[in-house]
Formats: sequence, structure tokens, C-alpha cells
Amino acid sequence: MIDKFFLYEELKDILYKYQADYPAMCRVEVIGHSYEGRGLLAVTVTNFDAGSPDDKPALYLEGNMHAGEVTSSMVCLYVLDFLLHNSHRSDIKHLLDYYTLYINPRVSPDGAEKYLTTPYTLRSSVRPYPDREVESGLVPEDIDENGLILQMRVKHLDGNWRISGLDPRLMVQRKPDEEGAEFYHVYPEGLVRGYDGGKVTLAKALWGLDFNRNYPANWVPEHLQKGAGPYPLSEPETRAVADYVMSHPNICVALSLHTTGEVALRPFSTADDSGLPRADLDLYGMVADLAKKSAAYDLIPVFGGLNKGTPSHGDFKDWAYEHLGILSLTIELWEAQVAAGIMPRSWPGRQQFLESEWESKQLALLRWNDQAHGGQFFVNWERYTHPQLGEVEIGGWRRKEVLQNAPYEHREELCSRNLGFILVLASAMPRLKLNKKEFEEVEPGLWKLAVTLTNAGLLPTKVTDKAEAIGIEEVEVRLSLPSSAFLIDGVLVQKLGHLESQGERRVSWLIKAESGSEVVIKASSSRAGKIKHVLHAK
Ligand SMILES: [Zn+2]
Repeated sequence: MIDKFFLYEELKDILYKYQADYPAMCRVEVIGHSYEGRGLLAVTVTNFDAGSPDDKPALYLEGNMHAGEVTSSMVCLYVLDFLLHNSHRSDIKHLLDYYTLYINPRVSPDGAEKYLTTPYTLRSSVRPYPDREVESGLVPEDIDENGLILQMRVKHLDGNWRISGLDPRLMVQRKPDEEGAEFYHVYPEGLVRGYDGGKVTLAKALWGLDFNRNYPANWVPEHLQKGAGPYPLSEPETRAVADYVMSHPNICVALSLHTTGEVALRPFSTADDSGLPRADLDLYGMVADLAKKSAAYDLIPVFGGLNKGTPSHGDFKDWAYEHLGILSLTIELWEAQVAAGIMPRSWPGRQQFLESEWESKQLALLRWNDQAHGGQFFVNWERYTHPQLGEVEIGGWRRKEVLQNAPYEHREELCSRNLGFILVLASAMPRLKLNKKEFEEVEPGLWKLAVTLTNAGLLPTKVTDKAEAIGIEEVEVRLSLPSSAFLIDGVLVQKLGHLESQGERRVSWLIKAESGSEVVIKASSSRAGKIKHVLHAK
């Protein structure tokens, strides 16, 4: 599972093989089609014999919304593989008996395919946007045909870069008024469209869509938010995800996996916490503890945390929380500088690091690559005669393999701690349980039936206060009697509100029925699932 990043057809084969091998636990569904027509695949994982998947509280896990963040697909597959291979284990059996996982390992199959099979890098979709074509500027291309798009350094009096005195591979920024060295321009490897011999500017990306700016959560148009797309859910991929999540009101928790940053993110992405209900802030506080303990991630908001004061509009997790009341998170799975021991893992400890000198950090990363990885992820600068710019050197980081994604040696550790966190979160979901079921014959043919309904989960049945505000269904108990029986006292359908963790509600009825009569009690809520018990008057 961690040996390689799978292409679409390989991924598809793996998923359908799981379905064939574990028919009672795994079902693959095509939930839509990508821009290029690839089936968008979601897997339902649960013990089907123990109840319908949609009747159980569910965790939605997605990966690879961003084309190049293929490590996130890997984590999804790792989780799926683990659950199926360990479904006999009592804790996993319990999880799959009572809960469902919906796993969507590759939200952006077109983009991932482009990323994995060409030297190009792109954000989400291969649909050209906002422009049909690149008009002018430097367009990244593998001009020396080594299969990689690296960087070019070009000697120039006005260059903003110079070679580090500490390591000739490293480029450092020219200080204001710095003279007396050889200066360089540093560009992505590529060709300049419409080159006139003057200043080189970078072309606007041809594939400018960003699925995580396309959701209807404080969405704003392209000129205010790069990657937003023409309107919310304009892309078939985001539309399919939104439809899928909307059609599963049993989703309690949504996790969107990304790279990079080695940090977990929560709402909001466009505003501070003042709009977050107190109870939900506390809930995220509890999730932060779980994330730290099981996966070593700090959990911070995007706005005011990751992005300080810069809003990020149209975000999936914000949409899932704000519009559906789902407890939603993003995990930025990987960060090379953390793995290298250069950047502090903890977020508070990171602020000072982020402000510290660039040269020494880059140097440390090069040393790590040299010592831990035999230097394989940095390509030394090589002279090349560029058709437009003349003599240049091409070199730099193999970004896809180490900066954007986890190299092989780090994958097992990364996948297993994320699995741990996902299992903990899934097990924390609310769960309705009917206990203390008592039938008492108060006089011949007259029965008192009393039951206690409990939320056996760690999260409340509403999951979030936001969900309650949106008006998700509260807990309901429904009694069905045979035609020969009569209800004397009590209510056939009762609304019980929402139950806190371990919260209980006692419900009773007085029934006139023959001994041995069969009654059915059903309890349900949007998030905490549906359960059913058959009892006999005796
Ligand atoms: Zn991402």
C-alpha cells in the first residue's frame, strides 16, 4: 500500500478487488465523473450484516482533492486496507458493526493522473481556467527532457539571488543594496511564451482551478479568490462530493486529507472564532487533544492560525461544518522540514522558526537529504543552453517526491499515526443504544413497557451545536404495535431532543395486549443512526 502512488486504473482495480474480497464489508460506488470522464470512486466500509451503512453514524474520509497531494490517497487506502484486513479484531469488528466509513481516496483523478504521469504540477483540475490558453510569460516545461521540471538559475546583473557561500547548490536572496557578487534570476524550468528579450514574468497557471476554493462556503469569485472557479460547485468533482455528502445525513465527521504542513486545520477559513459556538469550540478542543495524542498534529484554525489574517474562501471543511454542522477537519499530512527535524512539530513552537533565517533552514534540509536520503531528492545544477535565455543552469529539489509528498521511508509512520487518529475519531461518534428494556404486566392484559435510550458515543447525538442550529433531526423513538394491541398511555412517536455523551432518556408506554405480542421500538436521529428492537410482551 505504501510502495507507490497508484495511477487511477490501479487505484480502481485495488478498490474493486477489495469489494470482491470483502463483499460483506466493502462496497465501491461511482459517485460522479471527472472533467475527463473518470469515475469518481467512493468506498463504503462497514459490516453490512450488522445493519445498513446509511443507518449508522459515519465518518467521511477524502484525499487527493489537490492533484499533487497523492500521499493523501495513500493514507485513505492504508485506512481501508487496515480495516478490511483487521475486521475480525474485536475493536475493529465493533467499529464496523456500529459505524460506517465512507472513503473517497481521489477527489481529483484527472489532476493526480497528470501529476503522476508527466513532469507537470497542478492544483486540482485539468480543465483550463480561468483562461483557455496561456497568453504570455514563463510556462513550466521539462526543457532538458529529464522527466522533471526543476528550476533555472540565470546570471544577471539585476538578479535577486546569489549562490550561498555555505553550499553552492543553495540559492539565497540578494540583500537590498548588496553588490560585489554574481547575481542570478531564479525561475521554474520552462519556456517563455511571447518572449521579447525583456523581463521574464511567470505565466498564469493554465490549470488554475482549486477545488478547495470552489465550495459554497463564503465563496467569492476568481478576482477575489484565486482558484474559485466560475461559481460554487461549478466542477463535476466538487459537485459530486457535495451531492454525496448531502445524501448521507449520517455523516458526523468529515476529514479532508492534504499535504503539506504537518498540522491539522479546523474552521473557519475566512473569519475568526467569534462565529463558532462555544460548545463547538470546546468540541474542537477535545479533537485537538485526540489529534495531538494519536497523530502528533496540532489543530489550529485556518484563519487566524495557519493563514493569520488572510481568508481562504470556498473551503470544503468550512462548507461541511457551516452548512451541514459536520465536525470537519483538514489534515496537512506531511512536511519535509518536520520530518527532517528542522521545523518544530508543534504549532506554537513553529512561529519563531518561520521567522528565522532562510539560508540555514534550507541548508539543514539539504544536509538531511544528503545524510538520510543519499542526496537523491536534490538535482545538482547543470549547464544548459536555453533557446531563449541563453546559458542557464537547471537543478533543484525533486519537489513532488519529497516536499509535496512523503518519501518511502516515512510513509509507514505517517500512515499508521493517521490511521490511529481516524480510528479514535470514528469510535468517538455518537451511537444510540436501547437498554433496560422492561415489560411488566401491571394487570392481566395490561403491560407497562419502559426502555432507556442512551448515547453510547463520546460525541453528542447532534455532534455540533451548528448542526442543531441548522435543524438536523433530533432523537426520535417510535413504537409499533400489532393490530391486536392498543396504546393506553404514552405516545407512539416521541421526540427526545439531542443526547449528550452517555446521556439517557427513559420512555414508557402502557399497552393493552395479549401475552407474547410483538412490539417494535425504533430509535433514530440524523447523525447518531437508526436502531430497531423487537420485544415480546411477557
Ligand atoms: Zn491541499
